[in-house]
Parts: sequence; structure tokens; C-alpha cells
Amino acid sequence: MKLLTFSVDGKARPGVLKGDRVIDLAAAGLPAGPNGGLIEIVRGGDAMLDRARKALDDPNAKSYELSKVKVLPPIRQPSKIVAIGLNYIDHCKETGLPVPTVPVPFSKFTTSVCGPYDDIVWPLSVTKEVDYEVELGVVIGKTALNVPEAKALDYVFGYTVVNDISARDLQFVGARQWDRSKSFDTFCPYGPYIVTKDEIPDPHVLQVRTILNGKEMQNSNTKNLIFNVPRIIAHLSQGTTLLPGDLIPTGTPGGVGFRRTPPVFLKDGDECVCEVEGIGAIRNRMRPR
Ligand code: ZN
Repeated sequence: MKLLTFSVDGKARPGVLKGDRVIDLAAAGLPAGPNGGLIEIVRGGDAMLDRARKALDDPNAKSYELSKVKVLPPIRQPSKIVAIGLNYIDHCKETGLPVPTVPVPFSKFTTSVCGPYDDIVWPLSVTKEVDYEVELGVVIGKTALNVPEAKALDYVFGYTVVNDISARDLQFVGARQWDRSKSFDTFCPYGPYIVTKDEIPDPHVLQVRTILNGKEMQNSNTKNLIFNVPRIIAHLSQGTTLLPGDLIPTGTPGGVGFRRTPPVFLKDGDECVCEVEGIGAIRNRMRPR
């Protein structure tokens, strides 16, 4: 299923995609999380998914045309967003950093979340070198602590598309930690759906692409991940509890803007599309202030 959070008449609620329509899961009796989001459905596990599937199969379920609703971020405030850096060899090479031997995690503050079609906004007084990074996003489905790799996929709820927006002029200054440069408000657009994992039996065969103003900038495949999804979950969950709804952007392939000749940075009016095969695409307009 492709689950989403959407609003009509200003009221946010969970939904499931059916062709070009959205079934209203709140009207079908499923719980809406804060901001109408999917968190309660994720926490509810298989029992909740069964209810969503029933609503999907019900010909009388209340629904809306997808083109007439506003699509919101699937979960506006997950307990955490733990991203993985340097997880494709071509991206390590273009950044001039060594290929890591263990996953390289960093946080994006949860206030950086925005919707799949929202504007990306940043203060030009703080950063002028803003860049895109298409990533497969993993959404955790069950509380995970000290999970072995062999069991790690059991803890996945589904997959989504993330653009890990990054301020390059802040990323490599000072102590070179990345959290602030990747955590401005709106720097974590994601969605448009969380695709449940039954629809993506193998997350390591998916094409990932970025198209900036109609021009392809990144094009790779999740088969090229240095650390795959089970390895990432096993690594992150050693001593740290992952909670349902937590978002893990898994890293970006080569082709980012700041290492191009000449460098490409996002500017006012640019339209950046990030897509992952089998999930969909997010599309954001750049609006620096
Ligand atoms: Zn990234």
C-alpha cells in the first residue's frame, strides 16, 4: 500500500492511494496521529495495516481525487531522523572523503521535515550554498534495539523518498559535524508516500534520480549502497532504540551539485525532483529569503 497524509478543507488525515484517488482512512475509523499523520498506523503494525487494506478494498470508502488534495509529510515529527552519509562509492569519491568501513550516521532535526511538494526556504544571510541529495528513506515499524542484521528487515514498516537538503558552506566548517547544515526548517522534504514493505521485497534494486529544472543530476541504484538496509538498522540499533516512525535516509549517490565544475547550488525558483523507483517522486521549489 501507498500510505500518505493529506488534507482537504484544511483538515489533515491519513490516507491510502487507490489509483488516482485517496481513500480517507480517518473516515474509515483509523486513528490520525498529531497533524493528521501516519504515526498511529505505523505503531499499530499488522492489525492496523489489515484495517487499511479493508478500507482500500471497500468500494464505498470515502475518497478524494489525488489532484484535489494537499499532500503533507507522512509523519511530521518522527522521534528522530538518522541519516547515513557517504554510502555510495561515487559520492565518497566526488567529496574527496575515504570510503567508510562502518556506517556514518548523523541527525537531521525533526523540525526540518516538510511536505513532498512544499517550498524549500532558507535564510540567505546564513547559507548561499544549498544542495540536493536524493535518498531512499527507510521508515521503522517496530521498536528496535540491538537488532541483528538477519532480523533487521522485520523492523521496517516501509520506504519513502527523501531529499537530504544540505548547506555546503556550513557542512565543512568548524568541527565538520553535519547536523546544523542539514537541519534548517524545510531541509527534509519527504514522501509523497510511505510504501509498505510488502510492495518492496528487495530495497536494494531501486533506481534513484534527481532532476533539477528538467535536467538529470543524479541517477544510481540502491544496489550500489555501501551499507545496505539491514546493516544500517543493525548498526544504528546497537545501544540506541529506534522507534516506529523513525526515518532513516540511507545516503545519496554521486552527482551532487557542490562538486561539479562549475558548482551547482540551488537558487530561487529552481524545481528539484527526487524519485525512487517503486515509491514515487517529491518535487520542491526553492525559495531562499
Ligand atoms: Zn545525505
